[in-house]
Amino acid sequence: MRVSPSRPAPPPPEPLSPLVDAHTHLDACGATDAASIRAIVDRAAAVGVQAVVTIADDLASAQWVTRAADADPRVYAAVALHPTRAGALTDDARKAIEELAQHPRVVAVGETGLDNYWPGKLDGCADLATQKEAFAWHIDLAKRTGKPLMIHNRNADADVLDVLTAEGAPETVIFHCFSSDAQMARTCIDRGWLLSLSGTVSFRNAKALREAAPMIPPGQLLVETDAPYLTPHPYRGAPNEPYCLPYTVRALADVVDRPADEIAQETTATATRVYKIGESCPP
Ligand SMILES: [Zn+2]
Ligand SMILES: [Zn+2]
Repeated sequence: MRVSPSRPAPPPPEPLSPLVDAHTHLDACGATDAASIRAIVDRAAAVGVQAVVTIADDLASAQWVTRAADADPRVYAAVALHPTRAGALTDDARKAIEELAQHPRVVAVGETGLDNYWPGKLDGCADLATQKEAFAWHIDLAKRTGKPLMIHNRNADADVLDVLTAEGAPETVIFHCFSSDAQMARTCIDRGWLLSLSGTVSFRNAKALREAAPMIPPGQLLVETDAPYLTPHPYRGAPNEPYCLPYTVRALADVVDRPADEIAQETTATATRVYKIGESCPP
């Protein structure tokens, strides 16, 4: 699911500090080795993004993200098989993910969850039944490792809630790229879960999400790029990178009518707490 950029990279935004990019994909952004990781994270640091969590979507990526986190002290990782790849969750894959999840710089199990958009459209995409089984396994893994569960939910609100209820949610649950409506936000907030907002909050057509955003209490709010996808307005269609996070936070500040630097402080404090950044994860 690589992005083939049709537009040039967005210019660097005005710095906004401190920020943590709670969900990104450095490998899909083009990073391969320590030097290319450093280049991306340096561009982010130059505008105030002091740490990033890079997320795996398949087994090779899960191995890569843990190496990336070892290579740069500003990088943390999360491992899982993406719901669309749930069909690859063999016994061997489970063993490998389980081992990687123990890594001290792996700060979450994810992204896992349910994707109701790609089945039937994407070759080899797992069907919903297969996705549910893999989701349940990752929920159990999050509980066993004591690490936050990072959920990918695309057009699957009711099913995601059903599986979480049936399996029992782990202590910390993060909905990455939360894009649902106010009713779903209320349900998640009431259960103590965290909602991470991406560039979609800046999209002019995201009316339901823009109603939901002001409901999220500071202690349950994170911000992310999901780069290289979902580049914030007005740069949709251009390649996204962690340095673009201030655009999203300023768009969010407009939506919730609060100062961007307060949102930066609060979301960084929340990310530091839930990911235990700098605590159990020395550089
Ligand atoms: Zn996702
Ligand atoms: Zn993602």
